[in-house]
Formats: sequence, C-alpha cells, structure tokens
Amino acid sequence: MKVVDLFDLVIFGGTGDLAMRKLLPAMYRRYADGQIPPDSRIIGVARTRDTDESYRDSVRAAIAQHVKNADAATVESFLAMVHYFGLDATQDAGWSEFEANLKSRAGRVRVFYLSTSPSLFVAICNRLRAHGLNGDDARVVIEKPIGSDLASATVINNDVASAFDERHVFRIDHYLGKETVQNLLALRFGNVLFEPLWNARRIDHVQITVAETVGLEKRGAYYDNAGALRDMVQNHLLQLLCMVAMEPPASLDADAVRDEKLKVLRSLKPIDQNNAIISTVRGQYRAGASNGGAVPGYLEDLGKPASNTDTFVAIKAEVDNWRWAGVPFYLRTGKRLPARVSEIVIQFKQIPHSIFAPSAGPVAPNKLVLRLQPDEGVKLWLMIKSPGPGGLRLQEVPLDMSFAEAFGVSQPDAYERLLLDVVRGNLTLFMRRDEVEAAWSWVDPILAAWKTNPEAPKPYTAGTWGPSAAVALIERDGRTWHDADTNDA
Ligand code: NAP
Repeated sequence: MKVVDLFDLVIFGGTGDLAMRKLLPAMYRRYADGQIPPDSRIIGVARTRDTDESYRDSVRAAIAQHVKNADAATVESFLAMVHYFGLDATQDAGWSEFEANLKSRAGRVRVFYLSTSPSLFVAICNRLRAHGLNGDDARVVIEKPIGSDLASATVINNDVASAFDERHVFRIDHYLGKETVQNLLALRFGNVLFEPLWNARRIDHVQITVAETVGLEKRGAYYDNAGALRDMVQNHLLQLLCMVAMEPPASLDADAVRDEKLKVLRSLKPIDQNNAIISTVRGQYRAGASNGGAVPGYLEDLGKPASNTDTFVAIKAEVDNWRWAGVPFYLRTGKRLPARVSEIVIQFKQIPHSIFAPSAGPVAPNKLVLRLQPDEGVKLWLMIKSPGPGGLRLQEVPLDMSFAEAFGVSQPDAYERLLLDVVRGNLTLFMRRDEVEAAWSWVDPILAAWKTNPEAPKPYTAGTWGPSAAVALIERDGRTWHDADTNDA
C-alpha cells in the first residue's frame, strides 16, 4: 500500500461527533495499514480547554468504541501523532500561536477539515487566510450541509472561495467514497458488457433507496429546518444518480468526471408547482415500531406540536437527455423505515419475446443491484435453468460481482479513502462548487412547490416503507419498489 506524503491534518471540531465517530477511527485504520508517515500530525481544534494527553484519552476511547480489534500498541503509536489545540474559530486569540505551530513544520501538506457548524466556515477561512495558511500546500474539507438552498450555498461557497482556490476545496459526500460506488465506475467503464446496454433502449428504470431506521437522534434542531429532501436527496441521492447516469468521462481526472456529473444535474427535468404533486411524495413518521421496539412519532421526538418537515421523500426524477429519455429514476429516502439500507437498482427491460412454455415460470427482467450499505456488494440477477432433471423451469439467480469476501479483503470505510484522497490532492470523488449549486437549482423549485401547497406531509407508521402514496408513485407506472429489506441485494 502506498504511503501518502507527510501531512498535518487539522480537524476544526476535533472533539465533535463526526471527528470521534468517523474521522479519527478512519485515520487510525489507515495508520494501522501503514499508509501514514509517522511524522505526520493530526491536530484536533475546539474551544474547550484540553491537553494533548486528555484529548488522546478521548481519541483512545473513540477508537476502542469504533474500531474492531484495534491493536493496543498500534493505537499508542498512532496517538503519538495526535495533538490538541484550543482555539475559538470566532476569536483572534491563539491564532498566531496556531500559525507558528503549523509553520514550524514546513514542507508538508496541510489539511483543514471543517467539522463544525457551517456558520463557522467564514470565520475559520478568513483567519486561515489572514495567517497565510491558505497556500498551495493547503486543502480545506467541508461537510454537508452546504447551505439550505441555492442562495445560502452560494454564500458558503463564496466565503470559502475568498480564502481558497477551488483546486483546494474538497466538498465531501461520503457516499462517493464507498467501495460500491467505485465498483460502479469499474463495472461501467472497465467492461465492454454494460455500456452498450446502459441506455433507454435496454434499461427500464433505476431505483435509488437510502433508508434509515433511526429517528431524529440528537439532530432535531437541525433536521426540522432541513428535512429529507435537503438532508439526503440534494447531496447523496443526486450524487448517486449522477454516477449512474453520467456519460463516460474522458479519464478519471477530477474535472473530467465532475464535468459529466454536472451535465446530468443540468439535464434533470424540472419539478415545480406544475408537476410536484405527481412527481414527489413527502411523508412524516408517526409512532410505530422500529428496531424491535415501540418508537414515538416525529412530533413527539421533536417535542413540538406541529411541523411540516419531511422525514421521507420519494421522487420520480427524469434525466432529459438522449441516453435516458423516458427512463424514470425513482428516488426514496426516509427515517424510521424498516431497514437501514442504501442501494441502487438498475432494472433492465423485459425480454422482447418468450420462447418458454408457461410451465417454465415467469421470466424476470435482469437487475443489477449495487448495495452501499449495510453489506456492500454488487449482484447481477440473471435467469438460468433451474438445475436438475425434469422439465425446463426458469430460476432467477444472482451473480455476485463484488468478490471482496472471496479475496478476504475488508471493505474500508468511505472516510478512509476520502481522507487520504484529500492528502493526495485527488478531487475526483469530491463535489465541485457548480455541482452543489446545480443540485440546489433542481431542489429549490420542489421546496417552493411544497411551500405553496398547503397539504402537510403524508403520515406513515414508523417501521414501514413510507406513505402509501410512495407505492402509488411507482405502481401507477406499472413498476414496484425493489424489496430492499430482504438480503437478496
Ligand atoms: P458536533 O458534535 O456538534 O461538534 C462540533 C464541534 O465544533 C465540537 O468539537 C465543538 O467543540 C466545535 N466548535 C463549536 N464551536 C466552535 C468554535 N467557535 N471554535 C472552534 N470549535 C468550535 O458536530 P458534528 O456532529 O461533529 O458535526 C460537524 C459538522 O459535520 C456539522 O456541519 C455537521 O452538519 C456535519 N456532519 C456531521 C455528521 C455526523 O455524523 N456527525 C455527518 C455529516 C455531516 P467546542 O464546543 O469545545 O468548541
């Protein structure tokens, strides 16, 4: 495994949930695999007064909680590269020392991961610029949410751009770091088999499902202002749609890939007041059962008497271009659904004519199912003859195309891949500014249409697949949702 260049990774918000649950465990795993030069540093920054030692205690506990079978000696040597710097991003005090600290180690990549509320981005970026920490060796990483509509996303992007050149801005969408998403690129562009079929002549429709079993957790204040469309569709689901629908890029060069994704976003058929009612369904969960126990409804979780926030959304999207004309992309995502599963289903067309006797059974159309979580993998569903003597009966079987188990390879967490890509300066799996803005340009009219429609989100019982209108959305086209809670992905 190739060792990356020497770096300092500064995590603003280094004591927060994302840092402890995802970023630091991911860095530990890459360290344990020998990909990180030991002289590198990981510096957690937050306002709380803390010391290197007590911060290391927290990181040690986070690794124990989130990394299976971590080796105690390796954890200790990893912790030696972990430091803490107390700093308030909104105040000038301490920044000169911070600058001196970083500049004392010249000749290394500097990554600034803004794992804080977006309201701090401008304060952090301005100070990084004022202290000359935005040079050519710097990279800044920003997390979702990048705004709550086009106007606010533009403000954030402008704020970041005032300090960092776009070449140095890494907008992270961890779905793009998933092994299966990269496998989609390999399948499409590393084989001759799929690309001739990858169009409206051979593909009936595409389904993208991102289902969560959890409710609000501790994110009520944020979530009630966001909702499922902003929180999940604008970023994760649209990014996945782009990876399925884009034209072959000239290379895997970041801009070549991002140019193609941008074209898809710009080809999305607008959904607005005229068609939102038939092309979208929004729902909100009520009390029900989840993860084997009774759970309260959204309003009880939120502690408010009323809210029109969508905790579920289903959309019939269309990519209005030559390749995809007439192929619906059904998107659905929600909280308190029956299973935690993210998957893309490419449903091919029915065979044009069956030569089989009725006794052979029905011929199911081929399906390529890419599962992103929980068990990452790719399966191609094919018809074969049911083995054994007797008459010819057909059977649908999956061809497993992931092979990770066969090779005994463990699937890395998306953040492992993405964090090291930041150090490498590889922007391919990160969103460019114009992509984020194009995605908002498509989402904004849906939000506006919902706002003018006085109808509240449709209720659904926690532990079910959303409101019945979501089933109607696809069934009125003569199609059904793929059964995502079974393990037959
Ligand atoms: P969090 O748990 O609330 O952590 C926020 C961090 O920011 C803390 O370390 C906090 O420490 C620090 N902070 C707050 N004000 C500060 C200031 N003025 N100066 C310096 N540090 C300050 O948040 P989180 O869940 O980790 O999320 C971080 C960001 O990632 C958010 O934008 C969130 O939307 C996004 N995100 C999170 C997740 C996730 O799974 N958690 C997933 C996707 C995106 P002090 O209070 O000690 O300063």
